[in-house]
Order: sequence, then C-alpha cells, then structure tokens
Amino acid sequence: MDLKQIEKINTYEWEISRSVQPWMRVPVRIFSDEIMLKAALQDRSLDQAVNAASLPGLVGSVCVMPDVHQGYGFPIGGVAATDVQEGVISPGGIGYDINCGVRLMASDLPRQAAEHLLEDFTRLLYQACPSGVGEKGIVQVQAKELRRICEQGSGWALKNGFADREDIETSEDGGCIAGADWAAVSRRASERGAEQIGSLGSGNHFIEVDYVEQVFDEQAAAVMGLHKGSIAIQLHSGSRGFGHQVCTDFVHQFQAVAAKYHIQLPDRELVCAPLNSTEGRAYLSAMRAAANYAFCNRQVLAYAVRQTFEDCFPGYHLRNVYDLAHNIGKIETHRIGGQSVRVCVHRKGATRAFAPGHPDLPQQYQKIGQPVLVPGSMGTSSWVLVGTESAMLKSFGSCSHGAGRVLSRTQAKKEVNGGQLREELAARGIFVQAGSLRGLAEEAPRAYKNIDRVIECIEGTGLGRSVARLVPLAVIKG
Ligand code: 5GP
Ligand code: MN
Ligand code: MN
Repeated sequence: MDLKQIEKINTYEWEISRSVQPWMRVPVRIFSDEIMLKAALQDRSLDQAVNAASLPGLVGSVCVMPDVHQGYGFPIGGVAATDVQEGVISPGGIGYDINCGVRLMASDLPRQAAEHLLEDFTRLLYQACPSGVGEKGIVQVQAKELRRICEQGSGWALKNGFADREDIETSEDGGCIAGADWAAVSRRASERGAEQIGSLGSGNHFIEVDYVEQVFDEQAAAVMGLHKGSIAIQLHSGSRGFGHQVCTDFVHQFQAVAAKYHIQLPDRELVCAPLNSTEGRAYLSAMRAAANYAFCNRQVLAYAVRQTFEDCFPGYHLRNVYDLAHNIGKIETHRIGGQSVRVCVHRKGATRAFAPGHPDLPQQYQKIGQPVLVPGSMGTSSWVLVGTESAMLKSFGSCSHGAGRVLSRTQAKKEVNGGQLREELAARGIFVQAGSLRGLAEEAPRAYKNIDRVIECIEGTGLGRSVARLVPLAVIKG
C-alpha cells in the first residue's frame, strides 16, 4: 500500500476507495493523522484491511483505528460489519484470543496513602493472580462446570462467590453473551480451558496499579468513580488456551468451507463462512462460549485483585468501573445509509464505544455513554474515554483498544534488555513484577506507538471523548 492510493478526507480521516483492488466490496476508512498513517504503512496492516474489504456481505466501510498493526489475516485495530442475512463471519476478524479485553477498577485510596505499601501489594497481587504461559488458574473445573462457565460467563462467578452484582452490571453484556453452545466446543478446547479460569496469561497481558493523573470530564469521571490522585487498577486478559483452541479449530474447519460456498478471498487467512450456514452458526456459538469464558476469567481474577487490595488497604473498596471486550464478534443493529441493519460487527483489537442513551448500556452509564478503556504501555499513560454518537455513525460504535505495536516481538527482544528496562522503570517510580525478563523486553514502552497521539486522533475524529488519564505505579506481566 502506498500513501498515493489513500485519499485524505480531513486531518483525521482517510479513505482507500473500492477501485484500488478488484475484490473490494466496500471502501476502507482510516481514522488516523498523517504521521500515524505513515507508521501504519510500515507493515502489512493496510493491505490486510484492503483484503478484508473482500468479505461477502460487508456494509459501510472496513474501519481502521489509529493503533492499527498487522495481525492474522485482519489487522489488529480493525472493525468490519457484515449483514446477518447475506454476510460472513471470519475468525481472523475476531482474533485468536477471543474476548481479550480490559477491566478497570477504581478506589478512593489516595496515591500518597498507598505508596509505601505498593511493592508489597504488588507482590501479593502476583501471588494471588496466577500468570505465565500455560499456568493453572485460581479455579480448576471439570467439563460439566466448564460448560456452565461457557453458558453463564461472569454469572457463574457470581453464583460461586467470585463476583458482586455491581461487577456484572458494569461489564459489557453483563459479562455473558447469549447463544453460546457447548456442543460447538471441541474436546481439545475443553481440556485446555478446564484448568485456566482465573489466570492472566503471559506477554501483553497485565495487571497494572495506576493513579488517576488527570481528569478531563469531571461529571463522567465522578459517575465512574475516578478521582484525581486516587488508585485505579487495570486488568488485561482473555480466554487463554480455550479461546485460542476455538479459533484454531474453526480456522482449520473453515479452510474447506470457502470453496463450498464459492467465496473467493485474496488471503486464505481471511477464511470465513456465511453467518447463515451450519458452519458459521457453529463458530458463532463456540466464539460466544469463549467470550463467556473470558468474561468469567477476568471476573475471577478481578475478585482476587479486590480481595488483595482490600486486605492491604483496609477501609477502601475497589469497585468495578467497566469490563470491556476488544476481540469479539457481536450481532448489533446499526444505522447504515438511513436504514437500521442487523450486522455482525467484527472488532479485532478494537473496543465497543456506544453513545449515551444506548439501550445496551447499564443504567449508571446511560447519561455519559459507555466507558472506553485504552491502555498505553507499562511506561506511559492509559486513557479512559466514553463512547459517542460519532462512533455510532462512523465506526459501528467502536474505538481504539490501545497504542498498538510499532516493534514486532522479535524486534523488541533484539533492541531491549529486560533487566535494564526494569531498572529504568524503577527509576521512574514504576515497580515491575515480571514472569520473565525476555517477555518484559517484548512489552517495552518503545514497542508501542504514542498513546497520547492515538487519543488525539480519536478525539479529532470524535470516536471517543476523554474522561481521565491514568499513570502506572506498578505492573505485573505474566
Ligand atoms: P493487545 O490486546 O493488542 O495485545 O494490547 C492492547 C494494548 O495494551 C496495546 O496496544 C498496548 O497499547 C497496551 N499495553 C500493553 N502492555 C501494557 C501494559 O503493561 N500496561 C498498559 N497500561 N498498557 C499496555
Ligand atoms: Mn488484548
Ligand atoms: Mn489477549
């Protein structure tokens, strides 16, 4: 892809027209400024967006967020909506870590009152929350119980003493998506999932102790319980080996399906099946089971985080602000060309960002809009925004999910020394507890784009509105 093939709409919006490649059914709309757009041209992410524009039944445009980078088939930071009647569903458009997502919890604990206990607290968190590759979780279950987790999501955690009602109310979809089907889940996935509920994983997944450094919207921040100078905690995890196996199973199964349904694709990593087919429905049901697994996983972890926090800082409560998916396919209604259309919104490395008044939002967020959680890196700020009407109109109610990578994992490991990085962060007052120093190097702040610039693009195009900025004090990396 070449900058010459991209039309500038305004400072923060760009378009790749359908005429660029013969297979494109819809244009690609990029939300970015020129500098970040040029950065995106350094990898294959925009070519991948152009390829994704070939999927049958797409409506509107394929959307690209400012944090875009290359992924499997689809770019990470991509959003695509397909008509439920005529469209397809593509596992690559959702991602291997189904319902990877972020949860934010907030407290009234002032940063100053926490500081002297912070390292001890972080060590206790590290003990309470299993992390690392293949690590067993807080909860280990048999297949029968796993089935309930897949059907009930965070509801299972509530029934089993790992959640408060408020946690459920302040999670996307109440922490459970209807329509999960255990029968669509392979035995291998079930085996991999049975032991990992309540585990963080490795690499990019983290638990981070932050403080609210700045508030931009007093009213919205107050509704979320975010106060300047207070401690907040972010948790980033997904569906572990379970979701990965579900994705793997269907990517394999779908390889043969495209031909059966006469679907031609410019890249085989885009494999898909009609939403209205046996295969498409099976994937949707299994994907929902994995999404519910992830909701439950984050909930169980969050509960352990809360217990540790409340033991360490008596008298302070850690309440849920929001729990948000950023790798998921959702059936939603959107207005496209003046009409209401039922679509499957593929959000891969992108969050939902519904506007104020949307019926799917919990009561307390009706007025301000949905909280949008945008982590930056362990050495920079993270942002809390709210969804907007512009997002509803421009991006199927979606926003960016992070800063996005600039360095591949391999590159980052070459350029960064993990031990040195840990010391640099410590010198800046950020305490790091990591499973491996090599893993830490992959996650160096310089491996990610400039988060503040991403947010400037988001504000510029109106996909979200800033509420607060968080700054890290301690981080746990698996
Ligand atoms: P992903 O789900 O695509 O792996 O990551 C989402 C985003 O999280 C990344 O784009 C990056 O900006 C952010 N991120 C990765 N590691 C950390 C971390 O340790 N702390 C914070 N606050 N953000 C991180
Ligand atoms: Mn993620
Ligand atoms: Mn993940």
